[in-house]
Amino acid sequence: MLNIALFGPPGAGKGTQSEFLIKKYKLFYISTGDLLRKEIANKTKLGQEAQGIIASGGLVSDEIIVQIIEKTIIDHPDSNGFLFDGFPRTYIQAYILEGLMLKLNTSLTCLISLSVQEEESVSRLLKRGVTSGRTDDNEVVIRNRLREYTEKTMPVLQFYKDKGIFFEVEGMSSIEEVHQSITKIIELELSKKLLNIVLFGYPGCGRGSQGKALAKAFGLEYVATGEILDKEIKNQTETGKRIMELYENGQLVPDEIVIPLIERKLADSKGIKGFIFKGFPRTLVQSYILDGLLKKHGSSISQIIEIEVPTLELIRRLDERSKTAGCMPYDTSTAKIVKRLQEHETKTVPVIEKYNQLHGVTKIDGTGSFGEVFEKLSFEIENGLRNMR
Ligand code: AMP
Repeated sequence: MLNIALFGPPGAGKGTQSEFLIKKYKLFYISTGDLLRKEIANKTKLGQEAQGIIASGGLVSDEIIVQIIEKTIIDHPDSNGFLFDGFPRTYIQAYILEGLMLKLNTSLTCLISLSVQEEESVSRLLKRGVTSGRTDDNEVVIRNRLREYTEKTMPVLQFYKDKGIFFEVEGMSSIEEVHQSITKIIELELSKKLLNIVLFGYPGCGRGSQGKALAKAFGLEYVATGEILDKEIKNQTETGKRIMELYENGQLVPDEIVIPLIERKLADSKGIKGFIFKGFPRTLVQSYILDGLLKKHGSSISQIIEIEVPTLELIRRLDERSKTAGCMPYDTSTAKIVKRLQEHETKTVPVIEKYNQLHGVTKIDGTGSFGEVFEKLSFEIENGLRNMR
């Protein structure tokens, strides 16, 4: 999701710029001013409460704002993203926005502030007042609105400066120039967004070979816990020696060892477009860990894909692999193969179910040739990339 807040004093040009942006990025437009005027026109209780305050140029209470905005956001969870105009206007509203974004499992991408000198705002609004029909577009009320902006709204900027998502644009330039500056900021922020894919499927479904090929094709970093552990063993690191001992005793490698390794892999990956995770998360605990690790990078899971292959076909494939050079230590007997399939069923299937409820899991038929399955997966990832924009 791309979520933007346009900030600036009344008359800064937020409405005009919003028109371009919602078309360009297919965003859902939320102007709290418009929503309030609708409430007033419909003579609702909220509208009646807000009417007098708006007429005097004051700020409507945060309680009223939370009610109108929550309803609008929750009614549009599938939107490409939101463009906020005139919100947040108080420090409290900045926290309200945090909570609302969290509820949709997303966050504000950036806040763009249009700076305009006071006298320019006044003259623009007076000009607009001739045709807008808005009773609050008269000089006394305009001055009051600007005072409210300086006193209550300007302090909100610090909140976003602290978060590192505040950007300022010179609002006195031409409409086209302001538009170009805003677009430049948004494009830069979009390029920083990571595409994080979790690839699920039973052992033998082709996750590994497909995951590697997809990572190469889309410029993603392939993160496979098995390979990360093997590398430690090969490099004979202290952790590698410890992992080897565990392997030799037939024990599982605990999360305490796996997590720092993944953490390091994420931190070391620079200049990539995102990650493709294979074999992680394997358990519900690891699913929470992955959320936390990505959050640390200011990111989150973008897409979850499960490759589906019938059980008998899985056994056939794993058995075949056991007779080739690609034989893994855990492919060498039927008992081991069955144990891995059972592990997946008891520990990982609940993770997929959880994700299915939270974000939705895309299921891909993994029975065709490598090329056919790769094409289906690529199609889904391209879709995912489009949805990010
Ligand atoms: P606008 O259309 O954004 O200029 O808003 C018109 C008026 O609606 C403002 O002067 C406020 O009285 C009220 N208003 C709009 N958005 C908010 C908000 N987020 N918080 C408080 N009052 C608001």
